[in-house]
Amino acid sequence: MAAEKRSFEAEVSRLLEIVAHSLYSERDVFLRELISNGSDACDRLRYLALTQPELINGDATFRITLTADADARTLTVADTGIGMSRDELIDNLGTIARSGTSAFVKNLSGDQRKDVALIGQFGVGFYSAFMVADKVEVLSRKAGEETAHLWVSDGKGDYTVDAATKESRGTAVTLHLKEDAAEFADPARLRAVVKRHSDHIAVPIVLRDHGNDETINAASALWLRPKSEITAEQYREFYHHVGHAFDEPWLTLHNRAEGTLEYTSLLFVPSAKPFDLFDPERKHQVKLYVKRVFVTDDCQPLLPAYLRFLKGIVDSEDLPLNVSREMLQANPMLTRMRTQIAKRVLGELAKKAKDAPGEYATFWDNFGAVLKEGLYEDREQRDELLTLARFRSTAGDDLVSLAEYVARMKPGQKAIYTISGDTPERVARSPQLEGFRARGVEVLLLTDPVDEFWLPALGTYKNTPFKSATRGGADLDGLAAEAKDKAEPPKTDTATGSLIALMKLSLGDAVKDVRISSHLTDSAVCLVADEGDLDMRLERLLRQHQKLDQASKRILEINPKHPLIARLADLAGKEGAAIALGDFAWVLLDQARILEGEQLPDPSAFARRLSDLLAKGLAA
Ligand code: ADP
Ligand code: MG
Repeated sequence: MAAEKRSFEAEVSRLLEIVAHSLYSERDVFLRELISNGSDACDRLRYLALTQPELINGDATFRITLTADADARTLTVADTGIGMSRDELIDNLGTIARSGTSAFVKNLSGDQRKDVALIGQFGVGFYSAFMVADKVEVLSRKAGEETAHLWVSDGKGDYTVDAATKESRGTAVTLHLKEDAAEFADPARLRAVVKRHSDHIAVPIVLRDHGNDETINAASALWLRPKSEITAEQYREFYHHVGHAFDEPWLTLHNRAEGTLEYTSLLFVPSAKPFDLFDPERKHQVKLYVKRVFVTDDCQPLLPAYLRFLKGIVDSEDLPLNVSREMLQANPMLTRMRTQIAKRVLGELAKKAKDAPGEYATFWDNFGAVLKEGLYEDREQRDELLTLARFRSTAGDDLVSLAEYVARMKPGQKAIYTISGDTPERVARSPQLEGFRARGVEVLLLTDPVDEFWLPALGTYKNTPFKSATRGGADLDGLAAEAKDKAEPPKTDTATGSLIALMKLSLGDAVKDVRISSHLTDSAVCLVADEGDLDMRLERLLRQHQKLDQASKRILEINPKHPLIARLADLAGKEGAAIALGDFAWVLLDQARILEGEQLPDPSAFARRLSDLLAKGLAA
C-alpha cells in the first residue's frame, strides 16, 4: 500500500516556509526542542506505566539516543517514550495545536527579518527541525501498540504517513541535514549543544558514536541539585523546556520545603506575557511530580488561579505515586501546599517590589491584572496582595501603591478616590476629575475589568474607604482648593436655582436630579452616580456582559462658572424662558452622556436640537 499523502494545515505551511529559510543564528535550538519532546514523551509514559505496567513490557529504560552519521549527513533523535499513533502524528505534526505557535503565525508580518526574529520569541517546537533539515522522518510506535508509522516531509506543503515497522516503542526523528548544517552530524558539536541547552533533562541523553554509547547530560532532575551548583543558564534552559517558553525568566524561585509537608518547587515568573493569560479557563501549567515522577501538568488545585502566570514544577514527597486526577481535586495536602506556595511567591514578589521597583513595575504591567483576582478570591493573602498592588494615578506617570496614596492624602480627605475606564489616557480626561485636580487630590485610574470586582468586594484599605470619583456627594467641598479661584465651594444664587428648576422640569424622568457640581472646574456638565447607586462604569460593564439590563438614573451636575451655564442662568430668570431652555437642557444632558462614554438614547434628536441651537446662534 502506498503512503498516504496529506497537506499541512495552511498555517503550518506558512510557518515552515519561514523556518526553512531562516538564517536564525541560534538554529542549534532545534536539538533542544527535539530532546524536550523526547523527555516529555518519557515522562508521560512513566506515569501511565504506574497503573498500566504492560505499556512498558518489562523495559523501563527511559532515554534519548542521538545517532549521527556524518557520511549520510543524518542525525537521529530517538526516545523510548510514549510514541504517537497514526492519528497523533497527523494531529501533532500536521496542524498547529500549540497556542504559542498559533500566536507566532498571527504575528507574522511578511518581512523575513522581523519574522525570523519572532522565532526566538515564540519558538516553533518540533518544526524547528526544518531549520537544519530539508527532509524529516518521524518513525513512531505508540506504547502498547504493535504497528508503527512513518511520517515523512520535506517541509514544503505536504507530508506522507505510512504503516511501518519499529522494533521497540517510542519515536525516532531522523533529520536529513542541509548542506550548511553538516556540523550537527559531528559528535563533538552535539555534545556541546546538549551541554548548553539540555543538560537539565532528567532522562539520560546518550550519544551513540561508532557503536559506543556515552551519556552526555547530567541526567538528574535539576530541581534536586543544590542551588549553588545550578547556573543561571541552566535555570533558563530548564524554564524553556518545562514552560514551553522562549523568553527569559523574570524571577526564578527554587525552594525545598521540609517539615509537615515535603516538596521541592522550582517556579518561574516569565518576563513576557503569555498569549493565553486571559483564557477563560484560567488554568496554570505548573507540572506536578511525585518523587521525581511526572504526574500531570493539569493539577489545578496546586496553585490559585491568580498565580497562573507561573511556570515550572512542584515535586511532592508526600503524595502517593498512584494518585488519580479525582484524588487530586480535593486533596487536603494539596490545599496546604497551595497556601504555602502562594505565600512564598507573594513574599518574593514583595521583596522585588521593594528592592527593584523599576523591574517590579514591568512585572506589574504584565501580570498585575491577574494578581488582582486574588484580592477577592483569596482572603488569606488579601493583605499581602494589597501591598503588592500598583496603580496609575492622576499624580503622574509612576505606579503608586496604596500605602503611598494614603501617605499623600490631603488634610481632610477621607477616601481613596478611583475612577475607571478602558485606558488610563481616556480616564484621565474625565470631566469628573476636574474638581479633584483643582484641589490637588489624587485619583487612581483603574482600567482592568477585574477592578470592578475586587473594589466593591473590599470596600476599604486599612479602614480608608475606596470611593468612585464619578459618584456624587459633596465631600469634595470639605477639601481646601489649591487654586482658590477655581474651586470655591459652589453657591446657589437665585438665577442658578431657577435654571436648575427649569432643567429638572424639561428633563423630567431622564435624570435623577440636577445640581451644582463640586466636580467641575472647566467643563459645563457631567454625570455622576448617586451616593447609594451602582458605579456608572461598573454598571456599563455589567450591561455589556448582559448581567444587567436596566440603566440607573444619573445626576446631571452643572458648573455655574462655565460661561454657557452662567448665561443660561441669566435667561432662566426671564419670562417665558422654559420653552427656550428645554432644548439646551437636553443638549447638555446628551453632552454629559457622550463625555461619559454612554450611548445616546436618541442621537437624531440630539443632532436636530444641536443644529437648531447653532442656527439660532448664527441668526442672532
Ligand atoms: P510542544 O512540545 O510545545 O507541545 P512541539 O511542536 O514540540 O510542541 O510538539 C508538538 C506535539 O507533538 C507535542 O505536544 C507532542 O504531543 C507531539 N510530539 C512531538 N514529539 C514527540 C515525541 N518525541 N514523542 C511523542 N510525542 C511527540
Ligand atoms: Mg516541544
